[in-house]
Amino acid sequence: MSTRAELVTPALLRSWQVSRDAEGKDDRGTVLVIGGARRTPGAAILTGRTALRAGAGRLTLAVAEAAAVASAVSLPECGTVGLPEKGQRIEGSAAADALGTDLETADVLVVGPGLDNAEDTADLLRSISSGIPQEASVVLDAYALGVLPGLPELGGLLAGRLVLTPNRTEAARLLEVDEVEDADAAALEIARRYGAVVTSKGRITAPDGRAWEVPAGNPGLATSGSGDVLAGSVAGFLARGATPDQAACWGTYLHAAAGDRLSSSKGPLSFLASELLEAMPQVMTELT
Ligand code: AMP
Ligand code: MG
Repeated sequence: MSTRAELVTPALLRSWQVSRDAEGKDDRGTVLVIGGARRTPGAAILTGRTALRAGAGRLTLAVAEAAAVASAVSLPECGTVGLPEKGQRIEGSAAADALGTDLETADVLVVGPGLDNAEDTADLLRSISSGIPQEASVVLDAYALGVLPGLPELGGLLAGRLVLTPNRTEAARLLEVDEVEDADAAALEIARRYGAVVTSKGRITAPDGRAWEVPAGNPGLATSGSGDVLAGSVAGFLARGATPDQAACWGTYLHAAAGDRLSSSKGPLSFLASELLEAMPQVMTELT
């Protein structure tokens, strides 16, 4: 089964008029990325930098405390929060206390990039769930997708303001099946079950059955860190006030079009996820 999808064109994106001339940082929203275990802080950095490239006003990175200072140095535009660790692992149950007002003031939360343990991620989500502001939008990626079926109360809380970025394996976990056969049907089932907009391999699916297809993207995007960039791209547009479906279309298009530019200039499999960030301003220029 494949639902008919509308093509995401520059004209469609322009017609949605995501704010682009907001006067202050506050108008463009604050993104809080929660991720970055000590082995993989770069994932959270990629997500956060991309959110700024997509136009977010402010950024806070919450990463393992051992990686917080290095992350702040590597990304001077962000504020950082050190997440307490027990041994080498993030102590998820202590996340809410460490985040304090950074959680209360976030307009957009991204949870998952660079988290490396399912149990810690589930603890973390449980710890922060009652502190997520009612108006905030949320992007879940990687381990945060895998643990969502075990946290039904969180799914209910976030319905209507949630974007999920599953690959095929993560889609299967969200549906609690071994394998997904029909990717489009699976995306719709996930969207309905979690009240979420789903973006996966260039297709965006809303809970009411609407779907969009981004006519860009290439196999070079299947590279380390690429998914982290996608999550940040969507988050940046959410921060600017786009609805979850519009932010997912804008963010997915920006990610894919940046990849196409790099595939031409650097070779189909030779570009890095961090280079997507360098290609994004040109794509944004063409879209405005
Ligand atoms: P991940 O699986 O989390 O590493 O994310 C990889 C990203 O690259 C996802 O956003 C995919 O949609 C995208 N991607 C991977 N392969 C392709 C492809 N052949 N065409 C378009 N996008 C792709
Ligand atoms: Mg991923």
